Amino acid sequence: MAARVNISLGDEVMLKKPHPCGCNVWVVKRVGMDIKLECSGCHHVVTMDRASFEKRYRGHVSGQSSDSPDVGGEK
Ligand SMILES: [Zn+2]
Repeated sequence: MAARVNISLGDEVMLKKPHPCGCNVWVVKRVGMDIKLECSGCHHVVTMDRASFEKRYRGHVSGQSSDSPDVGGEK
């Protein structure tokens, strides 16, 4: 079984392809059957299924293992 990408709400992840706005940091907004990501550059929201997400996933920027400082988004 392939390793699953471990993500949780509020994590910041990079995808293989940056968003057209030039930003490649996405904030995880929902985790479930579908993954909802918000572009941290332009706040565009995309939803994709987990398999598609795992294909595009490149790495974490923050979240997961850390007490890294929160960038304090909008909200
Ligand atoms: Zn964007």
